[in-house]
Amino acid sequence: MNKKILITGGAGFIGSHLVDLLVKKKFTVTVIDNLSSGNLNNLKDSIKKINFLKIDLSNQKELEKKLKNKSFDYCVHLAALADIVPSITNPDRYFNSNVVGTFNLLQIMRNKNLKKLIYSASSSCYGIPKKYPTSEAAEINPEYPYAITKRIAEELIEHWGKVYKIPYVSLRFFNVYGPRSRTSGTYGAVFGVFLAQKIANKPFTVVGDGNQTRDFTYVSDIVNAIYKSLTSRISNRIINIGSGKTYSINYLVKLLGGKKVTIPKRPGEPKCTFANINLAKKLLKWKPQVSLEVGVKKVLQNIHYWNNAPLWSPSSIKKETKEWFKLLK
Ligand code: UDP
Repeated sequence: MNKKILITGGAGFIGSHLVDLLVKKKFTVTVIDNLSSGNLNNLKDSIKKINFLKIDLSNQKELEKKLKNKSFDYCVHLAALADIVPSITNPDRYFNSNVVGTFNLLQIMRNKNLKKLIYSASSSCYGIPKKYPTSEAAEINPEYPYAITKRIAEELIEHWGKVYKIPYVSLRFFNVYGPRSRTSGTYGAVFGVFLAQKIANKPFTVVGDGNQTRDFTYVSDIVNAIYKSLTSRISNRIINIGSGKTYSINYLVKLLGGKKVTIPKRPGEPKCTFANINLAKKLLKWKPQVSLEVGVKKVLQNIHYWNNAPLWSPSSIKKETKEWFKLLK
């Protein structure tokens, strides 16, 4: 079996865990990453066994030059700018990276005879869902520029699947957490914010009453879902990947252990995210293995990873989210 695979964003959070798994599974791995939020340290266990290319997907000429003569059996497309706040202040950067970047990748992959392309889509496409648990059939209603760019790219993937016959699976991830989650300068996902606060012995900045809930999904479950999608016969499908449970922020605070301080509720934010994962169970024969209790323990064992993560306080968050509150209220 030929197992040549290209992983975009392979030096990032999910990407580096996937690289480690695929190296173990004897895939021939090529990673492209622009190292804007990814980090070569994340690849320290695998770097000697892979081919690493520093490329920005939005740079079509460079992409073409470096990948023109290479062949791949599979591609997993994880490279994207994440986080809501900077997407509101800088939508052009997000469009360029997430939409144009995906378009450029698809154009290159048209002639590669891929067996499968996996796309990391986002549950943020559902916006504020009307139904829980939320299935793939739910209405699409992105609330933020980040969410719409991830959704537009998913439509490109679907369309290239239809027109140019690139078999794809688009996985809609719900609130992924785990070791190596991003520690970049922007105000982002709750785990990074809370872990830096824990290290500094500062109170957790809990949004609103903390009773809102999230479908927190551990990174190894995400990576297993990607692996199952690659190796299954399923193609041209969009599939939710979540824990299939939903946990309150107050419960997360309890598991992490520490004091809390309240910050204002954010506009456009759902009260709950909660994936209906029946399709993943049925089509991929996949199910999540790591409970939040076990996942948080694993994260706390690796808390040193967040030593240099930015430390957010109610006042710096207020400043950083000013545009968000102004525009989306
Ligand atoms: N959250 C919080 N304090 C923070 C940042 C986030 O209480 O400083 C909460 C937020 O209200 C949400 C959850 O954590 O319910 C997850 O937020 P995140 O931004 O990680 O993901 P998303 O809102 O996109 O699901």
